[in-house]
Amino acid sequence: MKRRYEGFAVGIDLGTTYSCVGVWQDQHRRVEIIHNDQGNKTTPSFVAFTENQRLIGDTALNQASANPDNTVFDAKRLIGRKFSDPVVQNDVMLWPFKVIAGVNDNPMIVVKYKGQEKKLSAEEISSMVLTKMRESAEAYLEAPVKNAVITVPAYFNDAQRKATIDAGTIAGLNVMRIINEPTAAALAYGLDKRIDCVGERNIFVFDLGGGTFDVSLLTIKDKVFRVRATAGNTHLGGADFDNRMVDYFVEEFKRKNKVDIRGNSRALRRLRNACEKAKRTLSYAVVTTMEIDGLFQGIDFHSSITRAKFEEINMNLFEECIKTVDRCLNDAKMDKSSVDDAVLVGGSSRIPKVQQLLQDFFKGKELCKSINPDEAVAYGAAVQAALLSEGIKNVPNLVLLDVTPLSLGWGLIRDRMSVVIPKNTAIPVKETKEYVTVKDNQPGLLIKVYEGERTRASDNHCLGCFTLSGLPSVPRGHPYNVCFAIDENGILTVSAEEKTTGNKSKITITNDKGRLSSKAIQRMIEEAAIYNDDDKKFLRKANAMNALDDYVYKIRNALQKEGINPKLCLQENEKINSAITKATNLLGDSNQQGELDVIEDYVKELESIFEDIMGKIG
Ligand code: ADP
Ligand code: MG
Repeated sequence: MKRRYEGFAVGIDLGTTYSCVGVWQDQHRRVEIIHNDQGNKTTPSFVAFTENQRLIGDTALNQASANPDNTVFDAKRLIGRKFSDPVVQNDVMLWPFKVIAGVNDNPMIVVKYKGQEKKLSAEEISSMVLTKMRESAEAYLEAPVKNAVITVPAYFNDAQRKATIDAGTIAGLNVMRIINEPTAAALAYGLDKRIDCVGERNIFVFDLGGGTFDVSLLTIKDKVFRVRATAGNTHLGGADFDNRMVDYFVEEFKRKNKVDIRGNSRALRRLRNACEKAKRTLSYAVVTTMEIDGLFQGIDFHSSITRAKFEEINMNLFEECIKTVDRCLNDAKMDKSSVDDAVLVGGSSRIPKVQQLLQDFFKGKELCKSINPDEAVAYGAAVQAALLSEGIKNVPNLVLLDVTPLSLGWGLIRDRMSVVIPKNTAIPVKETKEYVTVKDNQPGLLIKVYEGERTRASDNHCLGCFTLSGLPSVPRGHPYNVCFAIDENGILTVSAEEKTTGNKSKITITNDKGRLSSKAIQRMIEEAAIYNDDDKKFLRKANAMNALDDYVYKIRNALQKEGINPKLCLQENEKINSAITKATNLLGDSNQQGELDVIEDYVKELESIFEDIMGKIG
């Protein structure tokens, strides 16, 4: 049963660089995006510590270059990750603030506050940003705010989602639900257009923010939003474009002044701030000038940059975005011409070149820009919050469905992965498949559950295993069912059943124990493509081995039925026996490395021997 929450409920887009909060106004039938105490509708996800105070949001960002060591941002890149995670290691090099490994390899941010050293987790930093968002909402609504829906990138894994809930809890919020950012944006878009669907509508959400890039393909039908496919890059966004610009100007400064500002965090931070501003300007102007007094060793920085130059230094990143769009459509097996709407989300989707490349990709289709890209995610989160709240009457009754990020299945004989629930399947879902035993009188079987895209089961990520025992003593080929079920909360239950005896066995796999990091998920998908050839070869061999196994079984059975067949001469009997011995050797464990063509050839040989025998004794 759906829980209903009392009191005000807000939607919060907890962004890597900027956060945004909205609330459903039932009397006006729309979402109000709430401004902060500076009058801005998005708030920098920045927290700063000084000799005498803690600052959050705009005030923290504004003093960042004067206090780089103690101004923390990008906490979302750390949340739910380990310090030794290569992603974290990579980020640490770019940040002016200090991050160390804490207990359990959890990253801890080290700052100086009121003269004392403090170690803070990413959850704590995020909770401070969330507190700021809650306070903005409370000031606007003139009432306490307790409940919230918080959004996360589609590729966030379970640990990252849980850590985000923890951050909400630390901020004194009751986190009603965590939803994916692109899904929230689509929800906002659907409302905005008041889609009255006849048939299906395919919506492509392109969310290029400050630190993450997510694309999703959704289908709306009968007011149900279904996520068909998602793809993305957890490390691509506006900050990367800023970094490219920083690199460009560091080099220019070196050339002009024979000094390198790298290593001076304050100078770098000031330059980065100026670059971000210039980048925004270049979204509407074709050239902009930059000036920073006394940037390094008393030398002033004066320069300018054209939109063309900005596009040139970032072109491969922009192209990377389009490749991801293509991959997402491929995953969904959808032609781009079937996309009804392409929706722009995230501050960086304002970059003209990005819009142009995307429009070209969709063969000139007009892109949807009617929703403010900075606010779309919070808008959708606010709608979802209203849907879960008590006493809200006018919010359209929409249903959101999530998808499985990876295929789920189990390992068959010879380590083949049998997919039961393919990736990108909407949840909740329940799938049952029938299998047959592979041995005579097989007493039971071990079911090892995996997630991943590789055809060799053990190349995927093992989630757990269980056995189904007490199978009846019957020849091989006896049927049994394996059922995979995922509930609304993403909890997977796998069960197996043998019908005639009623023997059942099952395992429930929750996402608690160290699931894959988003990086690992991404890597597995990419590896699947790279190793595709290898996988195909493996599958061919496993099939050949099975065919060989089958022939040995058939020949043995045929011979057993007839006893030593008098119709066959001694020589023929010997030939058959040696053929079986050779086949058994080929099938033996020691021969797992056997050449594929040797096996395939031998299958053909056995085939002819078998036909020969049947011809004589049949
Ligand atoms: P996130 O949700 O990832 O924190 P947002 O969607 O709020 O990010 O987008 C923030 C990013 O958008 C920043 O990198 C910012 O510089 C960039 N941005 C905002 N406005 C513009 C603009 N007009 N042109 C280009 N980039 C912009
Ligand atoms: Mg965002």
